Amino acid sequence: MQIVLLGAPGSGKGTQSQLLVKTYGVPQISTGDLLRAAVACGSALGLRAKAAMDAGHLVDDAVVLGMIRERLAEADAVNGFILDGFPRNIVQADALGKLLDDVGKPLQGVVLMRLDLGVLFKRLTGRRNCQDCGRVFNIITSPPGTPPSCTICADMPRLEQRPDDREEVIGKRLEVYEAQTKPLIEYYQGKGLLRVVDADAPMAVVFANIQRALLIAS
Ligand code: AMP
Repeated sequence: MQIVLLGAPGSGKGTQSQLLVKTYGVPQISTGDLLRAAVACGSALGLRAKAAMDAGHLVDDAVVLGMIRERLAEADAVNGFILDGFPRNIVQADALGKLLDDVGKPLQGVVLMRLDLGVLFKRLTGRRNCQDCGRVFNIITSPPGTPPSCTICADMPRLEQRPDDREEVIGKRLEVYEAQTKPLIEYYQGKGLLRVVDADAPMAVVFANIQRALLIAS
């Protein structure tokens, strides 16, 4: 399985990627996660990326493409992958196409997770991560217990908000999506790869829709 999950920030790409990983045993490759890991370990790449990320801008194509090239060459990606948050613009999509053509593993599908702007905004402003287990909660739509606590580490409730989920940055990220990532819809439509899924539904329903869109069974 070689697929891309496309959609605005907050459309549920990460959550659905996790379900795909569990069901099909291929890795989720999230450029956002790779970049956050680089920031957390204080690498030179992370330092270069941090300012752009905190401001809601895209990180340099060269940085992201270098990272993706390395990640796709790892052993666990041999039998396929789910790309989450990549590509984010036409330059990246062209580079990905060339990379996959070179190894004879073209994309099999691009799933667009469609969601209204208002719903996206609510999902992003409410998103919180458990600092201990990484689990994602939403204080508006899927809150942990009251007072807010992580159900996995209930006695150590330490929820945090991603710096780029702050209200003032979300607007920028959605703007960047509209200007740079949305053109990929037409791009992949032209290649006959685009499948559109309604992402404003319970997690399991969205997952079933993705499976149907890709004509795959669990
Ligand atoms: P995400 O977790 O996918 O929402 O990404 C968080 C942030 O990481 C984005 O707002 C960008 O600053 C950066 N980022 C993630 N993926 C990419 C990409 N493919 N190209 C450029 N920047 C990216």
